[in-house]
Amino acid sequence: MPLYEFRCRTCESTFEVRRPMAEASDPATCPEGHEGAVRLLSVFASVGATSGTSSAPAPAPRAGGGCGSGCGCAH
Ligand SMILES: [Zn+2]
Repeated sequence: MPLYEFRCRTCESTFEVRRPMAEASDPATCPEGHEGAVRLLSVFASVGATSGTSSAPAPAPRAGGGCGSGCGCAH
């Protein structure tokens, strides 16, 4: 069952409530007994968000200056 964080608008305390997802947005009662606490945005850790690109080095560029055997330039 997911855990939701609520904030009391009366005493401004935050508290967590474990409740079914279907009741996630229902108002809650804070530990002090105040009604009408509002739910804060859930903070989920983003798992697997890092890029999967390998750290293999890119192929080094060919050293300049060397014309291939098929080059038609005057060098
Ligand atoms: Zn309160």
